[in-house]
Amino acid sequence: MNAFLGYANTLTIYNLTNFQLSHHPTRLQFSNFGIFQSFNTYLCPVENQKIDIRKLSLTELEEYFLANGEKKFRAKQVYDWLWNKSLKNFDDMSNISLSTREMLKENFIINHIQVDLMQHSSDGTIKNAVKLFDDKIVESVLIPTTKRITACVSSQVGCSLDCNFCATARLKRMRNLTPGEIYDQVVAIKEEAETYFQRPLTNIVFMGMGEPLLNYANVIEAIDKITSPEGLGMAPRRITLSTVGVTKMIRKMADDEVKFNLAVSLHSAINETRSRLMPINDSNPVEELGEALKYWYQKTKRKVTYEYVIWDGINDDEKHARALAKFCKIIPSKVNLIQYNPIDEGEFRQAKQEAVDMYVRILEQNGIIAKVRKSRGQDIDAACGQLANKNEVAQLNNI
Ligand code: SF4
Repeated sequence: MNAFLGYANTLTIYNLTNFQLSHHPTRLQFSNFGIFQSFNTYLCPVENQKIDIRKLSLTELEEYFLANGEKKFRAKQVYDWLWNKSLKNFDDMSNISLSTREMLKENFIINHIQVDLMQHSSDGTIKNAVKLFDDKIVESVLIPTTKRITACVSSQVGCSLDCNFCATARLKRMRNLTPGEIYDQVVAIKEEAETYFQRPLTNIVFMGMGEPLLNYANVIEAIDKITSPEGLGMAPRRITLSTVGVTKMIRKMADDEVKFNLAVSLHSAINETRSRLMPINDSNPVEELGEALKYWYQKTKRKVTYEYVIWDGINDDEKHARALAKFCKIIPSKVNLIQYNPIDEGEFRQAKQEAVDMYVRILEQNGIIAKVRKSRGQDIDAACGQLANKNEVAQLNNI
């Protein structure tokens, strides 16, 4: 969810990404992996394609080592290198024997991301163009303030949801990011925070490219790694997932009793306007969103943040402000009124200051906490709604 403005278990992911299902065993089959021995369909690696080792859970890694005559604890050592230390190659695993490292290299790869381009804004914001193993690019942003350093990360390459105001929507959805690719974005920004600001990363927001709830399993697995002691050990309350409002998945998150925060890109509490801005509102209308959020609050007791942009001539009147105030009363909530960054010469323009003041007044009269947020990194297209690999957009539009 580029909200600034903007099931499968692990084994199933294997099936989809690293193996071709085959009814004919070949000499290359990975049946020596204990984890696959119970499968009655043979799993064969795609020829010349090694497995991304970070797709294995610790248990699967332990089974792999045991099946290959190694001690179980080696798995924990390797897992620690892969996640806690974010190592990018097997050769640097100094407490693993040479022969074991060679065995790992024969069977696995580490699909680590690369920061292809880093841009620094005059306000301190840093935008990373991140290259993935298949040369696709996503973007993530470091946002420094006096109190916090926040990582805004992407969850998909492109997006399928077509929000009209969003630069990412101009890229077709190409694929979901893996848990490792999401995790690596956070690690890259953590290192940049330490290098350029001598401060730790304090917060993570899933507000970059893509809708995180449409890549739920991988996002949850990445958050598990980010919050676990074997990973980055960050507190879940430091993490916010932002969605355009996929109601079925909001209920699923509530059922899963997730511990992180939820933000919803609302932008209008009136169906007609919201559908014009965000086509997903046709299938997930405001009333249904309200019901899903009630369910979320019943289950989690966590308030929600509404991200809301006021556009000139679209939702800048009192009717929209009052509808927002009414919607905010469904469950405990607060509102971020976000400055809009035009992505072109189109119909979306930042509202006048009087409209912003009117919203703040009406929300406050109704006892709702509202903060006006300025976007950061506008000069490097890192601000709200601007995340989209410009080269890709240019190609798509033949610019
Ligand atoms: S198009 Fe996708 S990335 Fe952009 S705001 Fe909508 S859900 Fe977020």
